Amino acid sequence: MTTPRPETLAKLTPVLTKRWLSPDAWRIGTYERLDGYAALRKALGAHPDDLIQLVKDSGLRGRGGAGFPTGLKWGFIPQEPDGRSPTRPHYLVVNADEGEPGTCKDLPLMTHDPHSLIEGVIIASYAIRANRAYIYIRGEAVHAARRLRHAVQEAYARGYLGRNILGSGFDLDLVVHSGAGAYICGEETALLDSLEGFRGQPRLRPPFPATHGLYASPTVVNNVGTIASVPYIVSGGADWWRTMGTEKSSGPMIYSLSGRVVNPGQYECSMGITLRELIELAGGMQPGHSLRFWTPGGSSTPLLTAEHLDVPLDFEEVAAAGSILGTTATQIFSDQDCPVYATYRWLEFYHHESCGKCTPCREGNYWMVRVYRRILSGQGTQEDLDTLLDTCDNILGRSFCGLGDGATSPVTSSLKYFKQDYLDYIEGRTAPKLSDKQLVGA
Ligand code: SF4
Repeated sequence: MTTPRPETLAKLTPVLTKRWLSPDAWRIGTYERLDGYAALRKALGAHPDDLIQLVKDSGLRGRGGAGFPTGLKWGFIPQEPDGRSPTRPHYLVVNADEGEPGTCKDLPLMTHDPHSLIEGVIIASYAIRANRAYIYIRGEAVHAARRLRHAVQEAYARGYLGRNILGSGFDLDLVVHSGAGAYICGEETALLDSLEGFRGQPRLRPPFPATHGLYASPTVVNNVGTIASVPYIVSGGADWWRTMGTEKSSGPMIYSLSGRVVNPGQYECSMGITLRELIELAGGMQPGHSLRFWTPGGSSTPLLTAEHLDVPLDFEEVAAAGSILGTTATQIFSDQDCPVYATYRWLEFYHHESCGKCTPCREGNYWMVRVYRRILSGQGTQEDLDTLLDTCDNILGRSFCGLGDGATSPVTSSLKYFKQDYLDYIEGRTAPKLSDKQLVGA
């Protein structure tokens, strides 16, 4: 086990995670004792436009994967001149449908500290002039949904939700809605369709949710971590937020480490920390394992390797290294793990979760899974590698939504860095991982 050096420990910046270890942190009494809802009181005394400007000044970017500037997104909501009510209702929708393989930062946040999310929802709704908000939570997350619903009831009972919140004249109702367990409902327009009661499938854009979102009304869709960051920005100010992270990727970020490290878990650090430092914080690699490949932000992001240990994990630097920061779900694989098999397992996931709306993703993933089964059962050919790349070419940029594009990431990146592993299966140097029976099952 590695002991982190002081300079690495200094990169731990518990902000969103600071209450997680407090006993009963999920109860409103504990939350209030630990400064909870103080930011809301401050926000309700400010003009909504000033709150939007504050979030813009902080440089907060979406924590759900895309990294879009949050204040800019809020500013897209069409506003009436001062003093007039919106002609169409505005909505805030929190995307809590966390389903990307390896990603596990939103569920602990909602389980341990649900009121920080609720406080963020109220402030964000006030800023965009929404009187109704929804938290769309992944269907399988039964425990987190129960915690959240309980916390919402507590917030109503204390006057933080409902009519005339804290005497401000602002009204807000908040609904926690559980999805039915489809990965595609993490895509914001599929989520909106699902919330409206339709089958969750992505919508054609434009129009964008900012003008035609939920029930064809102006809607902001933000990730859990994004909204839960807002009370801290209101309390601490934009300049304080910018003391963490890098110039273009400000603030702290929750990095989820899983796989071959001694202490997998959530590590909230200044953006721009490196994987080398994160592994150090996690106690090092497991004994007998050395790093071989990893995902910077879930399986939809191209794999990186041991060469990239010192890449700062922010939006810009990860992109410059050929990948995407994504959901900051860093899955760590060692010299004892097979990149071909890992890619196959991810592809099975995407094949299963493809909503079927567009041909490149629906058919492409179907066929790629079959090619992988052939390779992993020792019956692949060199031509199969060309087929995989050709199929990726026909999915990437031709799919209706990001799921299709994301599915190609592990395929193209593993072929880029680990082609020899593929050839070892094809040329018989690696024993087949799948049996003929599994191949026939294809
Ligand atoms: Fe559905 Fe896949 Fe097409 Fe997205 S890319 S719309 S998930 S079939």
